[in-house]
Amino acid sequence: MNICFNETLNNSSLENDLILCEKYGYDSMEIRLAYLKDYLETHSIEELKEFFDTHHIKPFGYNSIENINFCTPDEWAAVKELFLYACEASKVLGGKSIVVVPTCTEAAANKSENEVFEDSVRVLKELSDLAEPYAINIAFEPIGHERFCVRSTRQGLDIINAVNRENVGLALDAFNLYAHNAFKDIDDIALIPKEKMVVFHIDDAMDKPFEELETVEHRAYPGDGIIPVKEMCEILRSVGYDSAVSLELFADWVQESNPEDVIKTGYEKTKAMLISAGF
Ligand code: ZN
Repeated sequence: MNICFNETLNNSSLENDLILCEKYGYDSMEIRLAYLKDYLETHSIEELKEFFDTHHIKPFGYNSIENINFCTPDEWAAVKELFLYACEASKVLGGKSIVVVPTCTEAAANKSENEVFEDSVRVLKELSDLAEPYAINIAFEPIGHERFCVRSTRQGLDIINAVNRENVGLALDAFNLYAHNAFKDIDDIALIPKEKMVVFHIDDAMDKPFEELETVEHRAYPGDGIIPVKEMCEILRSVGYDSAVSLELFADWVQESNPEDVIKTGYEKTKAMLISAGF
């Protein structure tokens, strides 16, 4: 079991997250690129490497490159620049994955599934080429909300199958996959080859009507909400999932909480959920 913390605390910092995650037992961290940039304003990357070399916690990966579809040339240049920034960080620090996220605009969401498929395959192949020399994997993350252009497990799987590169797989986020159709398609998760499951983002959804759920605001600790997280964990266990389980909270109530409380409670609830699912 590799319990990971996906940095989502706006009232914390990379330095603080690391100290607290080490204290409460996390095995790894998905480093948020904006927080890494903040950290490097006053520290060197060698200092960060030294921290990882001398502590239990390790970098799992980097989070996240957003809006990768249907970019203008300038937008695509910015995507590639941030992507290579993460690649270069991984060269010093280590880490296995970079999360990339489909585009969230009305125009992208209104494209046909075939247009989204073709664009996604093309951009992921280009990112795959960039990642190749760094030996780091791309985790493409479907987000179920209707504003996003790649919304389901099946759609994400079709795309990465067509990309057909060893370094391109999926990030599976319980909330984001639930947001597609309330997990009527939960069994599709078992169709993903284990080696294509790059990272599992664990979370839950507050008890609200389905159509009101917002991907950022309404997250809850795993087990505290309405998503069948345990069932998802059981499916992952049944296919032999052995990569990181990364707690991703984001919600407004999280931002108003004490970071230490969130990191401690989040670890305990994540671990309890995994144990209950037989991990
Ligand atoms: Zn996620």
